[in-house]
Amino acid sequence: MLLATDLDGTFLAGDPESRLKLYQLVANHPDILLVFVTGRGLESVLPLLADPTIPAPDYIICDVGCTIVDGETRQPVHPLQAEIDRRWPGERVVEQAVADIPGLSRQDVPQARRCSYYCESDAVSGELQERVEALACDLLYSADRYLDILPRGINKGRTLRVLVEHLDADPEQVLVAGDTLNDLSMFEQGFIGVCVGESEPALLTATESRARVYQARLSGCGGILEAIGHFGFLGPAGLKAEARDELVPGKADLVMVYHRLPYEEVVENGQLQRRRPRSPNGIIPTLLSFFADGRPGSWVAWSIHEPGQGAFETHTDVDPDSYPKLQAARVSLTKEDVDIFYKSFSKEAFWPTLHTFWERASFREDHWQVFLKVNRLFAERTAAEAAEGAVVWIHDYNLWMVPAFLRELRPDLIIAFFHHTYFPSADVFNVLPWRRDIIGSLLQCDYIGFHIPRQAENFVDVARGVAPVAVKQKASCAPRFLTYGCAVGLDEMTTVIEVHDRPIHLGAHPVGMDLSRVERALAATEVQRHMAQLRNDLVGTRMILSVERLDYTKGTLEKLEAFERLLDDHPELIGKVTLMNICVPAAREMTVYQALQTQIEQAVGRINGRFSRVGWTPIQFFFRSLPFEELVAYYAMADLMWITPLRDGLNLVAKEYVATQGLTNGSGVLVLSEFAGAAAELRGAILANPHDPVELAETCYLGLAMNRHDARSRLREAFNIVRYNDTARWGREFLDAVAACRSSDDEKDSVEQRVA
Ligand code: UDP
Repeated sequence: MLLATDLDGTFLAGDPESRLKLYQLVANHPDILLVFVTGRGLESVLPLLADPTIPAPDYIICDVGCTIVDGETRQPVHPLQAEIDRRWPGERVVEQAVADIPGLSRQDVPQARRCSYYCESDAVSGELQERVEALACDLLYSADRYLDILPRGINKGRTLRVLVEHLDADPEQVLVAGDTLNDLSMFEQGFIGVCVGESEPALLTATESRARVYQARLSGCGGILEAIGHFGFLGPAGLKAEARDELVPGKADLVMVYHRLPYEEVVENGQLQRRRPRSPNGIIPTLLSFFADGRPGSWVAWSIHEPGQGAFETHTDVDPDSYPKLQAARVSLTKEDVDIFYKSFSKEAFWPTLHTFWERASFREDHWQVFLKVNRLFAERTAAEAAEGAVVWIHDYNLWMVPAFLRELRPDLIIAFFHHTYFPSADVFNVLPWRRDIIGSLLQCDYIGFHIPRQAENFVDVARGVAPVAVKQKASCAPRFLTYGCAVGLDEMTTVIEVHDRPIHLGAHPVGMDLSRVERALAATEVQRHMAQLRNDLVGTRMILSVERLDYTKGTLEKLEAFERLLDDHPELIGKVTLMNICVPAAREMTVYQALQTQIEQAVGRINGRFSRVGWTPIQFFFRSLPFEELVAYYAMADLMWITPLRDGLNLVAKEYVATQGLTNGSGVLVLSEFAGAAAELRGAILANPHDPVELAETCYLGLAMNRHDARSRLREAFNIVRYNDTARWGREFLDAVAACRSSDDEKDSVEQRVA
């Protein structure tokens, strides 16, 4: 069948259950041709195409029949479009012809091959009709408000008719659906049709004697479903024909969807063993802690499994003693899938774009398809795990498309997403070829968390370019965050938006530190020994420390050059300061980092060559990863921590340094890039713009020259923030915010129902 449907008041209306049922019916029947037939301009239809819950149309007839495009390519359907174009005298000609008619005001909405106005009925005068006639155009006035001047003979019904002929489709298998007089032309073409419930009375009057038109009781999608049943479309089994099997909800009240499992899988003596991660990052234990109270939970993550490798265990315990009702629900992926989805694609396409290095990004459609496949598998596994109304917490950009697939499968779930990286504004994000799909997916969430307000606001900026966004609530960023004090500061952030009638709550939750991890490290004898050794090695010199991954976002090269400038400008520092730079190399297959590594090595060679003296080397550069405990020894001994990313979602290293210095009652100075998310939070740090070589060198000097009293009080300020906003508080606040958004939406719904 071919379903040709009006949008507003028809396909986009009706109760949520009927909408879901009709949308799933269309999605599950690939043989249903779906045609949107709307008065909207094409641009106003695009946001719907980004909404993964609305089925994608095969064709779009918009501008009241004046525009006809292919649903997938969005290119005009020729020769049908060309024929309409020939009848249109052009916007300027029409505008000028009616310019002096009183009472017309141009509609400020997208429109093409037609001119749309607002006017009272008395403005539709004989004079206006004559002018339109002289232009060889038609005039359409509806709902006592909307006036369209259209190419002669063009309307929704006529364009639909020529499309049906063009496709050589059976006219008897067409069902047209509408709700206003604007849709009458479709019924006048003699197609089988439905006026959905709550249709404009004038449409009902105009169609009441048409035997092939059914006037439905239910509004919107409910009315279309009624008509499909009434006319017996889709064969004898009708609506039940392809109904999806009911998905049986799982048992987990809270589902973590995180790419990594909460345990390590290692092969020992040919046997696959599971063990607690040797060096868990701070966040996994925090996320696990939510299951310590025995709440039924699930942790969805991938596990590598090759075809033909034997049975795959989808579910395993995590730690029955600590988390009795937590199961790991594993998504089986091949190594090749993981390499593409995680190592290559995410790093090559998304990472650079997210961090505003879009010119380094490369985009591959075949990799995107793998990304979609993996995300769909994650969504399917999650849908099977979650209990009715459960909270699902999805982590990071590797899983961007999970909300889209999941919302379709399980509309009942509370979907929350935390973005662990930077999130850029539309000028950068829009470079991504799949931006509409990604944002359409994120807009299926109930709650989206970012590290800092700037990133949340950037998300709103991007979303605005994809769909109409109504800002429903804003909040001041101070005092928790810097406002005008750093490059990523902001005075006010959006906390609730509404898109397609759905509220989406936004929050800023900078990831915190697990201080007990630092405390444990400081207490370890090995770490104490290491600290003593460092103290010995550094007698007479002050240590500037940098710790980062090898990545162009981290500004390592810029920092080395600034260090060279520092020694040039302040020769008194020669022999007195050492820059210890620990740089974690990238995996060998990440070839994008090779050139950067060479440049860094050359810069270190040049600077050490220029300034070294017997017994003193200005830069000690380590291309290796150190265990966390060893890092803590460095943090404890460093006089100045120099962190200079050009762009960073947060930067945990900065917090780890502050925590270590705070716990050891130190007076170390943190010099931090104002482009790191942590800069918006960590009062007490000296902030620097890493794009300004002079400032970079000068702020480092300022930090070295700072008196101990100032340094200590700055450190105390930062330490109080790090200690209070620890990782446990981060997780708790995130989940509390998710719970609060659910209750505020429930409350709003019940108020609306009471009003209705
Ligand atoms: N890290 C580590 N060993 C190293 C260097 C870094 O364990 O040799 C850890 C560090 O303690 C921190 C993390 O790696 O927890 C880096 O996090 P950050 O947010 O600073 O940067 P990212 O690498 O996530 O961009």
